Amino acid sequence: MSDERMLEHALPEFAQARQDLQTHTVREAVIRFYARHDARMDAAIHASPQALACDKGCSHCCRQFDVVALPVEVFEIHAHVFRHFKPDALRSTIQRVSSYVAKRKGVSEETRLSLREACPFLVDNSCSIYPVRPSVCRNYHATDANNCEKSLKEPFSTWPTTYVDDVFFTAMGSAAGFRNAVAEQGLDTKEYHLSAAFLETVQNPHCVKRFKSGKSAFVKATHTGFNQAESSRAA
Ligand code: SF4
Repeated sequence: MSDERMLEHALPEFAQARQDLQTHTVREAVIRFYARHDARMDAAIHASPQALACDKGCSHCCRQFDVVALPVEVFEIHAHVFRHFKPDALRSTIQRVSSYVAKRKGVSEETRLSLREACPFLVDNSCSIYPVRPSVCRNYHATDANNCEKSLKEPFSTWPTTYVDDVFFTAMGSAAGFRNAVAEQGLDTKEYHLSAAFLETVQNPHCVKRFKSGKSAFVKATHTGFNQAESSRAA
């Protein structure tokens, strides 16, 4: 049943993204995906009888874990900050990201979880890269902010999930449809730790070349091990 609910969104997204990838650059394709994805999410949220607790200024979810992103998403964030940030903001972003990455060098996933440091793209409780934030951030939602706060304070305790089913399956299905279309092109769809991958893109322009030639985009940034090309297909 959950597979069917995901497929309802994965299949149309896969078809549209596949078409986009034939007629647009991969970076244009990710922006077009975000527009469709946000529209699907908005429709699911508005149709839900349960209200979401998420609101501007609430940033518990930006402190919970290391955000992951696909290489295409990392490149879009990189392009965005270099195009739109003023020199001071760009410098401080790179400094925050560098310090965040340095603290995580060689640490286990469990230790990463216990650090609970704010995402380095979070500024004054707002996402500084909001228009190009990765899909995992677009997907996160909750009906009870208290649980988000509790899980921030006690990461190893179990708190009730306060996702809305329809919103969750919309998010997962739509994101899987896009990821599969990118994977079909033979491109890297591993989920890398965003900060490390962003920093590597700043330091090494060859990341984009590697990605375009079908290789792993990043050699230093760690990833979750999830590779869509090797996983069972949702679309
Ligand atoms: S990228 Fe933006 S939305 Fe995502 S965790 Fe970082 S600050 Fe929050």
